[in-house]
Amino acid sequence: MDGLMKGKRGLVMGVANDHSIAWGIAQKLHEHGAELAFTYQGEAFGRRVKPLAEKVGAGDLILPCDVEDSASIDAAIAALEKAWGKLDFIVHAIGFSDKNELKGLYADTTKENFIRTMVISCYSFTEVARKAAAIMNDGGSMITLTYAGSVRVMPNYNVMGVAKAGLEASVRYLANDYGPRGIRVNGLSAGPVRTLAGAGISDARHMFSFQQRNSPLRRPVTLEEIGGSALYLLSDLSGGVTGEIHYVDSGYHIVSMPSLSELKR
Ligand code: NAD
Repeated sequence: MDGLMKGKRGLVMGVANDHSIAWGIAQKLHEHGAELAFTYQGEAFGRRVKPLAEKVGAGDLILPCDVEDSASIDAAIAALEKAWGKLDFIVHAIGFSDKNELKGLYADTTKENFIRTMVISCYSFTEVARKAAAIMNDGGSMITLTYAGSVRVMPNYNVMGVAKAGLEASVRYLANDYGPRGIRVNGLSAGPVRTLAGAGISDARHMFSFQQRNSPLRRPVTLEEIGGSALYLLSDLSGGVTGEIHYVDSGYHIVSMPSLSELKR
């Protein structure tokens, strides 16, 4: 199975540190021969991202990009076009909401945080997809990261769930927009992983252990496993797959009741 990404070049957005889902994906893509570029949000993250990106051979293409600022997306894409000309894939693993609103009632979400969450966690994928598609080879592939709080209520996930619902709908519309060029667009719905973003959700550790105890596999997913699913979606292995939300969550999304041992606790 070696070399599935040989000859392919792509952009990974959303590495904050070595616990990031995007980092798990980047390592897997590198193992399979992909040539990678990275973006990071601001200099503080940059200091952590650069040594990681260098480990997987990113060279000069470790670029600042804050997705709230359209000009910074333009600059990152322009730098890729200058260095590579064309692109084969993108990984969008970006999300943000005010942690003060990732607790309590969804109904209390402020308009300001609703809009900001939507812009960063949902619209940014559409904007990046459009700008990346302009320099993407036909037959390319794009993925974004989502969570099952989009389709079912998860405690404290609140406005992020609404943003992820919009993100998943965007996956379908973008898949239809770019399908005629053979460009595929898919979402990867990961089970809970302990990351910086994950820690912003109030009581996340309870959600984490509940899902672990009650998923069919009775364990969390690893970055390695999420990376493997991303490799599938970004490589030619998934050639006929687009507009899909692919769950990598130990099967938790198929369960309607807690396990018997949980019920008897
Ligand atoms: P993380 O904190 O490692 O990554 C989140 C990234 O978003 C960071 O790199 C951060 O810099 C970036 N970001 C936030 N605002 C940005 C902005 N304005 N411009 C550019 N980048 C910005 O956490 P993670 O859990 O690896 O998150 C990656 C993606 O995976 C997110 O979309 C998240 O919602 C999703 N996800 C996470 C989990 C989980 O349990 N951790 C589960 C399913 C889906």
